[in-house]
Amino acid sequence: MTGVLTTLRAGDPGLVVVGGGIAGLRTVQTVRSAGYTGRVTVVAAERHLPYDRPPLSKQVLTGELAPEAPVYHGAEYFADLGIDLMLGQQARRLDVERRVLHVGDAGGGELTVPYSAVVIATGARPRRLPCAEPPEGVHVVRTVEDAAGLRAELLTGPQVAVVGAGFIGAEVASSARALGLDVTVIESAASPLARAIGQSMGDLLGGLHARNGVRLVCGRGVTGLHGTDRVEGLLLDDGTSVAADLVVVGVGVVPDVEWLADSGLPLDDGVACDEYLRAGRSEVLGAGDAVSWPNRSPGRDAYRTRSQQWTTAGDQGRHVAEVLVYGADAAGPFEHDLYFWSDQYGVKIQGAGLLNRDAALLELRPDRSRLVAAYRDADRLGGVLTVNHPKEFRRLRALAAAGAPWSQIAPREMSLADDLSGGDAA
Ligand SMILES: Cc1cc2nc3c(=O)[nH]c(=O)nc-3n(C[C@H](O)[C@H](O)[C@H](O)COP(=O)(O)OP(=O)(O)OC[C@H]3O[C@@H](n4cnc5c(N)ncnc54)[C@H](O)[C@@H]3O)c2cc1C
Repeated sequence: MTGVLTTLRAGDPGLVVVGGGIAGLRTVQTVRSAGYTGRVTVVAAERHLPYDRPPLSKQVLTGELAPEAPVYHGAEYFADLGIDLMLGQQARRLDVERRVLHVGDAGGGELTVPYSAVVIATGARPRRLPCAEPPEGVHVVRTVEDAAGLRAELLTGPQVAVVGAGFIGAEVASSARALGLDVTVIESAASPLARAIGQSMGDLLGGLHARNGVRLVCGRGVTGLHGTDRVEGLLLDDGTSVAADLVVVGVGVVPDVEWLADSGLPLDDGVACDEYLRAGRSEVLGAGDAVSWPNRSPGRDAYRTRSQQWTTAGDQGRHVAEVLVYGADAAGPFEHDLYFWSDQYGVKIQGAGLLNRDAALLELRPDRSRLVAAYRDADRLGGVLTVNHPKEFRRLRALAAAGAPWSQIAPREMSLADDLSGGDAA
């Protein structure tokens, strides 16, 4: 073992992880399982024990889970692992020369936390609309508090508008419909999810909204919000308005890295890490929604990307721990197929690989209750998207990861245009 954390002397300050999300959690779990026995500290701005975000737009909004329920582990779990949790404490500055983290304390003062190695895992926060927001009725969903506040208002029976038809927006719309509410989704792009899964599949999955009684308005931007004390509706860029007394904004996230502005670390759409997730120094690494890195999949050139998915964040947390304990050569570069899932309108969507292009449909039930689509990358299978077909997803995901030739799946390809018209009529 030749990583930074295994060449420490007694009394060294050990590992400090900034951020208590899934990336931070997997980091501290993995350094321990890899045998690191030195000091481990997590500095986390939220006052909660690390918790799971994906249920916040799903089961927490529908009431199947209490907002405080999705914590991963109780306090005793961290105590048993010998991990110090500094909850409710915000990192303000990183001095990489002196190897010290500056942290705001509850009284408005500042304390310093020295480190031998530090992992930046501060995630991201929701992007807001560029127009003025009335003080009441406009929501985002990132934290337990956001979800609890939104759920409480959904229970009053409002007319709901969701801005952004990405995965979070679609899940919120689905949850609001499950509560029997009137919902409109506004999307500025011509098709929902086009950048994530390509236009053809975006159009297909966007059809789930209408099938479930949600109005979807595409190709329209929001230029203003009506209402003084409380939101009363949206003003769109064609001059029309959408009435709403509750608005949920789901227009993407911004990496939480401003606190690193004077650190000298490379910042570019998050912390710009190398292929081992190091941020310009062997003892400073990054993981999760806060970082970009040059990703590579089999046989393809590396491309810089920033994931916003739970599985990638956790896998990056594990990887930085391995780089720190075993060394970069032993851990190898971080390569990921960017797996994601989304649960909406009673279906499970799963995707992996390069999906930002048109896809070939391999299977589609007219009511969209099952779908299998394959994405071509030159002469290979580049990615896969499925609805309610985990078995086929696993099979095609493994083929894509192995760089399987496109000819291996192409014979099953069906005509998207034919099937779409059949599907819409059903
Ligand atoms: C509502 C919702 C639903 C989702 N559903 C899915 C899904 O179905 N499938 C999927 O694949 N992904 C989903 N995601 C995305 C997934 O949850 C994220 O990709 C993942 O949580 C990122 O983990 P992270 O640890 O990088 O960051 P976060 O989970 O954002 O954790 C970062 C933590 O760092 C803290 N922090 C920030 N700045 C500081 C600072 N200066 N000092 C100390 N602490 C700081 C933050 O408060 C936060 O607690 C969803 C996300 C949301 C919000």
